[in-house]
Amino acid sequence: MIVTLDSGASEQELEAVLSVAARFAGVTPTKYVFEGAASTVVEVHLIGDTAKVPESAFDELPSVRHVVRVSQKFRLIGRHGRADAPVGFEYNGVRFDEGEVHLFAGLCAVDTPAHVEQTMAALRDAGLTTTRMGVYKPRTSPYDFQGLGQECLPWVFELAGEYGIKLVAMEVCDARHIDEIQAALDSAGNPTGVMLQIGTRNTQNFELLKAVGRQRVMPVLFKRGMGITLQDSLNACEYVASEGQPNIIFCLRGVKTHLGDPHRNLVDFAHVPVVRLLTRLPVCIDPSHSVGRAAVAPDGVPEILHAIAQGVITGASMVLLDVHPDPATALCDGPQALSLEQLPRVLSYVERVRRTYEDLVAAYH
Ligand code: PEP
Ligand code: MN
Repeated sequence: MIVTLDSGASEQELEAVLSVAARFAGVTPTKYVFEGAASTVVEVHLIGDTAKVPESAFDELPSVRHVVRVSQKFRLIGRHGRADAPVGFEYNGVRFDEGEVHLFAGLCAVDTPAHVEQTMAALRDAGLTTTRMGVYKPRTSPYDFQGLGQECLPWVFELAGEYGIKLVAMEVCDARHIDEIQAALDSAGNPTGVMLQIGTRNTQNFELLKAVGRQRVMPVLFKRGMGITLQDSLNACEYVASEGQPNIIFCLRGVKTHLGDPHRNLVDFAHVPVVRLLTRLPVCIDPSHSVGRAAVAPDGVPEILHAIAQGVITGASMVLLDVHPDPATALCDGPQALSLEQLPRVLSYVERVRRTYEDLVAAYH
């Protein structure tokens, strides 16, 4: 059961909720604070045997906005039917909620300083301050390029700072990587911020999820599992929140099945509104890893952009995109990388689809 208080609720009003909760044996109340764009919301979560606790015990208390019985296990990330649940967070000057779309275009795998610099220069020229840079790569084969790892972090972060990048999405495959990233950021003087990415191969690596959840600084980009249900992915995502890090973005990246051929994965962006309905997390789409190829449709638009449209038109608020200065020489996922020359057109495409989405929503009412 979740008791939500009005944003202006006083300490005494919160105490009143906690003391009513304490009257019920076998029920533990825990306070959570969620910082939305417009206001801060305080919730008291009642864990345990809440079947005997009537909603009316809290309904009448001052500043109680609503009381909901939670039917989903992902209680912290869940929306639980509350249209007014606060969505999103701010990190390093970038606001993530449902109000706009952020394009994180960048390298699937960092290879050379020259390629990182060319990419960041193209991002800056396009007016972008967010990117993706894969440094630790979980590869299907041990003989494939595994990423440059810790050694490249100093120059990746330094270049990010030089080119005005505020946020780099970067996958971690081991708890040790989190410390390496934090240490490299600190020793570089924090020239940029990092969003810790959990890849689809680690969606149910619960110890890693707990580790990213325990650090309270960097937000988390959580990718759905490629071969498990959406429900299982949401329960896995809850591990991050349950350890204390509520700043999470949920990413759809397609599911593994030959029914999606010739695409690398079956595009699952019809789940964008489903995740928005079930959770209070901003939703990201990864058209590169779902489509998996840079093929161009007969209308001249790359299939990856058509897939972006599917996600953004249904309310996705972040797009993760592989680009590369020279896709033919990329050490990982070159066939799905768009070129840097395509970036301005991609950005304009994303912005136009977003405006259309907003128009369509407004016209629907
Ligand atoms: C990636 O984004 O680099 C990646 C490996 O994606 P996924 O975990 O979705 O396969
Ligand atoms: Mn990749």
